[in-house]
Amino acid sequence: MGCSNGRFGEFGGQYVPETLMSEICRLEEAYLRLRGDPSFQAELSALLDSYAGRPSRLYFAEKMTRDLGGAKVYLKREDLNHTGSHKINNVLGQALLAKRMGKKRLIAETGAGQHGVATATAAALMGMECDIFMGREDTERQALNVYRMRLLGARVHSVTGGTMVLKDAVNEAMREWTRRVDDTHYVIGTVMGPHPFPTMVRDFQSVIGREAREQILKAEGSLPKAAIACVGGGSNAIGLFSAFLGDEGVRLIGCEAAGRGLDTGMHAATLSKGEVGVFHGMKSYFNQDGGGQIAQVYSISAGLDYPGVGPEHAFLRDMGRAEYVAVTDEQAVSAFEYIARTEGIVAAIESSHAIAHAMEAAPMYDREDSIVVCVSGRGDKDVAAIARHRGEDVRE
Ligand SMILES: *Cc1c(COP(=O)(O)O)cnc(C)c1O
Repeated sequence: MGCSNGRFGEFGGQYVPETLMSEICRLEEAYLRLRGDPSFQAELSALLDSYAGRPSRLYFAEKMTRDLGGAKVYLKREDLNHTGSHKINNVLGQALLAKRMGKKRLIAETGAGQHGVATATAAALMGMECDIFMGREDTERQALNVYRMRLLGARVHSVTGGTMVLKDAVNEAMREWTRRVDDTHYVIGTVMGPHPFPTMVRDFQSVIGREAREQILKAEGSLPKAAIACVGGGSNAIGLFSAFLGDEGVRLIGCEAAGRGLDTGMHAATLSKGEVGVFHGMKSYFNQDGGGQIAQVYSISAGLDYPGVGPEHAFLRDMGRAEYVAVTDEQAVSAFEYIARTEGIVAAIESSHAIAHAMEAAPMYDREDSIVVCVSGRGDKDVAAIARHRGEDVRE
């Protein structure tokens, strides 16, 4: 099917309407060509360095290490990037690719607005038009990010179909792409969707793992015992994992959102509770209701609130190379507070899911061991919601 296979075992593929198939093939062809093109890679590297602020630091969290009493905890600081998370790595890569393909316009879906803001940023930088699709529920909850995207020159479209959340915004962005493929590139925000997106987005995020591997070897002279990251669609996690896939001694641990608890129905733990299905152009695991419909998902963290997971994670889990654990809202909020107090770092509530697991994992290792935890983003955006969660009313 399609122009190439694009599968991870049985997962992935290209489940798209006829009208998109030829565009997806053009995209794959362009991507494969540019991936091996030194001038493209040099231009992207220069942008990541001078604009995004790479390489991001690998920080030894000494107080946290002492307090937890076990492996040395190293934090990969994606929160220090321009726009405040790892999303810029992918967006700059895709925007540059789109430009080389002759596209004039970028479109994207967004949930809380983080990926929309990153895409609007890249569009402003490259002088491209930008349209962002966002569920109406989300435009109302995230008014500040809507304004931020408009400030950056983007148009924001409020999607009223379905349940008016992220998955509906993806549907609408796909439809819009089908309507205007000639001058438009759809910047998918994570390792999901039809091939080549899961591979391409992984490659753009693999800079996280490449840097982290080199940095930990320099700091410790040995590889870490575990690499830990939160999983929404799974792009920061796969970016970190990709450098360690061949290192059998490195455990790869993804942290999903268990929300109010795995047995409540109010969670977004796709690998723990989902079933195999086809949605948004790919075969993977999805949270489904009894009738095989995509289930409503929930997490305190908007960035983890997606009912599916990237197909490579499904594959890595099923073949036993990576493990996935579920972390509740309550555990994530406690970790958010813990790392702020202990290390002076306000991490994103998404990243706090990984930190929560690291807090449990670190004491299980020896003092000579190390673990690497991805701090995928900064938590300024979450402060008011955490205060509310704790019963305090703070004005945003
Ligand atoms: C969007 C987001 C995530 C989730 O996306 P992945 O593709 O799973 O990485 C995680 N952390 C932050 C800070 C985000 O903004």
